[in-house]
Amino acid sequence: MMRIVLLGPPGSGKGTQASALQQRRAIPHIASGDLLRAHIADNTDLGRRARPFMDRGDLVPDDLILDMMAARLVEPDAQNGYTLDGFPRTVAQARDLDQRLQALGHRLDAVIYLRVPEDELLRRLSGRRICPNCNAIYHVDTMPPNQKDICDHCGSALIQRQDERPEVVRNRLQVYAEQTEPLLEYYQSRRLLHEIDGTIGVDRVLAEVAEAVGRASQQVAGEHRT
Ligand code: AMP
Repeated sequence: MMRIVLLGPPGSGKGTQASALQQRRAIPHIASGDLLRAHIADNTDLGRRARPFMDRGDLVPDDLILDMMAARLVEPDAQNGYTLDGFPRTVAQARDLDQRLQALGHRLDAVIYLRVPEDELLRRLSGRRICPNCNAIYHVDTMPPNQKDICDHCGSALIQRQDERPEVVRNRLQVYAEQTEPLLEYYQSRRLLHEIDGTIGVDRVLAEVAEAVGRASQQVAGEHRT
C-alpha cells in the first residue's frame, strides 16, 4: 500500500512515470489533468467551468479541484494506494490532502520530484502528442508511436493538447514556478521529498523512482514496527 505524489513541472515525465508505476505496483495512476479533460469531453458543469483556465494554462481554482479529487480518492480502487500526478499543485491543495488523509488515519509515503531544466521542458512539451481515448503519451522525436499519429494501445488518432501551444506552455511554466514550486519546501520539511534527475532517460528515471518508492516503503514498515 503506497500513497505517492509525483511532483514536477509540466513535461517533466510525471504521467509517463505514473503509468509505469501503475503497471509495476498495481496502484492506480490518478491524474488531475486527465480527470479534468474527461469532464470537458463529457461537457459536465465542472468541465465547462474549468476549461477557460486550462486553455490559458492557468490553474483551475482550488475549490473545484478539491471536490473533484476528494470524490476520486474515495473510489474503491484508490483504497490500496495511488500515484497522484498533477495534484496537489498549490500549498492549499497539499494542506487539504494532508487533512483528508489524517482524518482517515492515512498519510503520504513519498513525494517524488522530477527535476528537468526549462529548455528541455519546452522541447518536450512542443513535441508531445496524447491519445484522447486512453491518455497514452508520445513524443514526435523521442517516443513516437509505431504508426504516425496513431495510438499503439487503442488505435485512436493522437492529438496535440490545446494548452501545448508555445504561448500557453510559457504561462504554464510560470504558473508552476509561482504556485507549485513552493510545494518542494512544504514536502522537504515533512521529510517526504525524493529528488530525481528527470533527464536521464525514461527507464533510468523509472528505476530511480522505483528505488525511492522502495526505500520509502521500508521506512514506513520500520516505523510501524517501532
Ligand atoms: P496537466 O495535465 O497536469 O498538465 O493539467 C492540465 C491543466 O489542468 C493545468 O494546466 C491546469 O489548468 C489544470 N489542472 C490540473 N491539475 C490541477 C490542479 N491540481 N490544480 C489546478 N489546476 C489543475
